[in-house]
Amino acid sequence: MTRVGIGYDSHRFVPGDGVLLGGVKIPATVSLTGHSDADAVCHAVTDALLGATGLGDIGARFPDTDPANKGRDSIAMLGMVVQMVGESGWTPANVDITVICESPKIGPHRSQIRARLASVLGIAGDAVSIKGKTNEGMGWIGRGEGLAVMAVATVERR
Ligand code: MG
Repeated sequence: MTRVGIGYDSHRFVPGDGVLLGGVKIPATVSLTGHSDADAVCHAVTDALLGATGLGDIGARFPDTDPANKGRDSIAMLGMVVQMVGESGWTPANVDITVICESPKIGPHRSQIRARLASVLGIAGDAVSIKGKTNEGMGWIGRGEGLAVMAVATVERR
């Protein structure tokens, strides 16, 4: 049996030294800001896995009112959710991710992000897809105020 989940996240840019996505810091003159480490790729994938398995959502699992989640490592949070997914009888099969921003470019860092996420998810690198898109200059993404991420995850019964 296979199930599918969807995840979405967005974070705001502030002046900084790089954009953390999928556990990989991409050099830039901005950084993402948020209560945790603001890794929007990890957050979208985490929500997609929680959605596929009916285990809730990242906001309920790791509330931003909890001081323990301040600056929290999102790769570690994703790892905890992968463990929950396994304990509920499911195993991740693949994830497909789209990052929407005018910059930085995702392409040059794709293989590194894929490898990082594949190791946390316990799946092969070719089962992790990450794509970059601009928003054609439109709206808040077009103005460079932040970025958005969409992710789909499939899980299979163990
Ligand atoms: Mg987030």
